[in-house]
Amino acid sequence: MNDKAVVLSGICKTYNKGKPNQVQVLRDASLVVDRGEVVALVAPSGAGKSTLLHIAGLLDTPDSGSVTVDDADMTRLGDRARTAARRGQIGFVYQFHHLLPEFSALENVILPQLANAVSPREAEERARDLLSRVGVAARADHRPAALSGGEQQRVAFCRALANAPALLLADEPTGNLDPATSDQVFAALMALVRETGLSALIATHNLELARRMDRIVRLQDGEIRAA
Ligand code: ADP
Ligand code: MG
Repeated sequence: MNDKAVVLSGICKTYNKGKPNQVQVLRDASLVVDRGEVVALVAPSGAGKSTLLHIAGLLDTPDSGSVTVDDADMTRLGDRARTAARRGQIGFVYQFHHLLPEFSALENVILPQLANAVSPREAEERARDLLSRVGVAARADHRPAALSGGEQQRVAFCRALANAPALLLADEPTGNLDPATSDQVFAALMALVRETGLSALIATHNLELARRMDRIVRLQDGEIRAA
């Protein structure tokens, strides 16, 4: 069994290549997240955190360099295979919850499982279990608009973990919350990650939250540096 959840090697990414507004975001970014490890990605706004997470999450492709998730080389997959790999192996949480507004919290956690061919009964059972683990079971039948910001993010974590991914990627997941709520929601996320033995790469501005992870890396001048 391999012991690496994700390996990013020599990632380069330039937006608007060859145009006057060209911006080289990643120059030679390399990072390994071990299985069960939770790594904080810390850098100021505009440094390229989201770009790196999107590449690790197979939502975007690098200009050069390679992406390996759970020992499988994802670098040259076609669109269909990328989508399948993303759905089964990677959970993504954004700063804003991105829950589907017309569905309940429970349904938002069930739907990705149905897309992954899990039976409706099993999907509901797992969704209820995840929601109760992060303390929002009582809100299961509410639509996102009826939930607080902290509750919305808790549901978003459950949705990201619905298909039991190998890797959780979170892009400033508590960045929209007030400090006290951010603290509680982060604690709920960490508890869930630890219980499931998940590996995670979590971008944050918040050094206090970063210090509660296993390791901190910085993104500087397009490269990953140890903190
Ligand atoms: P961070 O998440 O650390 O704030 P981003 O990865 O969002 O940083 O952005 C890094 C840089 O790349 C910024 O200068 C941003 O303006 C630029 N950028 C991000 N996405 C695009 C895009 N799709 N097209 C052009 N420039 C982009
Ligand atoms: Mg960002």
